[in-house]
Amino acid sequence: MDNQHILQESRRLLYLVAALPRCDVCVIGSGPAGGVLSKELAERGAQVALVEAGRLMTPQDCHFHTWPYELPYRGTRLRGAPEAAYPPEVSEAIRYEQCDKIFVDRIRAVGGRSIHWNANCFRFSERDFRQWTVEGVEEDWPLTYQELVPEYSHVEKMIGVTGSREGLDVLPDGEYLPPLKLRCSEEIMRLG
Ligand SMILES: Cc1cc2nc3c(=O)[nH]c(=O)nc-3n(C[C@H](O)[C@H](O)[C@H](O)COP(=O)(O)OP(=O)(O)OC[C@H]3O[C@@H](n4cnc5c(N)ncnc54)[C@H](O)[C@@H]3O)c2cc1C
Repeated sequence: MDNQHILQESRRLLYLVAALPRCDVCVIGSGPAGGVLSKELAERGAQVALVEAGRLMTPQDCHFHTWPYELPYRGTRLRGAPEAAYPPEVSEAIRYEQCDKIFVDRIRAVGGRSIHWNANCFRFSERDFRQWTVEGVEEDWPLTYQELVPEYSHVEKMIGVTGSREGLDVLPDGEYLPPLKLRCSEEIMRLG
């Protein structure tokens, strides 16, 4: 490629880049962290590009309420098993060096792990932010629980968390909608 050619190609690329839509922030990953961050920034007027490596999931991808008899071969053979929503290399890509092997469930999907979480919305407690000081493990956070209280409240009200106020130090109460009715098994647990 001669110099003239390189110059032409560079100009062409510059025009292409100039024509691309501009954004103020690029958020990688549409899980609870990236999703909420993108929403908050966009609502405050920022142009946000949210990049997600996974695909859009449908209710057909989820088999939580499928009975074994509804699956071919009762789901006991590979042919009968539902197709995995994401490839095994996603969770197997973690490298462990001089540490215990811990299980990390990763997903590649729009919505991240909110696609298959249990919908428990707990706050960290004061002591969770000071694990090094209190227990001598991990590290203290650079933030305190009190500093994060307004953010917890904001998200709880935004997504509509329900629950009862129990007054427990280890599980601080949040800004809850009235609690849902307990299921039979939960009622038995409550009665002790
Ligand atoms: C079975 C299960 C049950 C759970 N239940 C609860 C619960 O009840 N309560 C609770 O508080 N927590 C629960 N959790 C934990 C909770 O789901 C996670 O803490 C939370 O989803 C983390 O959010 P995140 O946005 O940081 O990451 P993720 O939810 O993991 O989102 C990360 C996103 O980034 C994308 N991504 C990664 N790399 C790239 C890349 N290079 N380019 C583009 N995109 C990329 C991924 O595809 C994914 O969508 C549960 C987790 C699991 C697995």
